[in-house]
Amino acid sequence: MSQRREFEIAFVGLKPGVHVFEYRIDDKFFTSYGEQDFSNCVANIKLSLDKKNGFMQLKFDIDGSADVICDRCGNTLTKQLWDEFNIVVKMVDDPEIMNEQEEDPDVYYISRGESHLHIADWLYEFINLSLPMQKMCNEEEMGGPQCNKEVLEQLKKMEEDVKKDNNPMWKGLEKFKDLE
Ligand SMILES: [Zn+2]
Repeated sequence: MSQRREFEIAFVGLKPGVHVFEYRIDDKFFTSYGEQDFSNCVANIKLSLDKKNGFMQLKFDIDGSADVICDRCGNTLTKQLWDEFNIVVKMVDDPEIMNEQEEDPDVYYISRGESHLHIADWLYEFINLSLPMQKMCNEEEMGGPQCNKEVLEQLKKMEEDVKKDNNPMWKGLEKFKDLE
């Protein structure tokens, strides 16, 4: 998808062994990927590339933060990004076929004639995977300064209304209870 220069590694020129690359990603990076469900992303990525004979081992360390919207109350929450991902890149004769057949998502094939690694899509994927699946205020934040108390109050009231007298079905059931 995106083949930007700054996210290309000319690995052919690298000596065997470990090489470290650092990237700082902010919201600008994501514009070519369309709208994201986070904002104010600042991610520092350390990539260790271990060049071996016929393959490379890549380790991505993700560190940073991004703002997400709480699924429950709609408030903005800053979440920490912290995770690491490993990829093995193998040089083969027929990378397209191999990539199609490979079931391990952590193994990727490139052509023996290839000279560059394009890592932008991996960075994109890994930053997204570093975000928590559940985007909600946690217990401590609920009712705290971050939390939208008005919305929470309304939700609570709605829940109570449904449970109690406003629900005709509930009333009907209570009648049966009295007969027992
Ligand atoms: Zn919330």
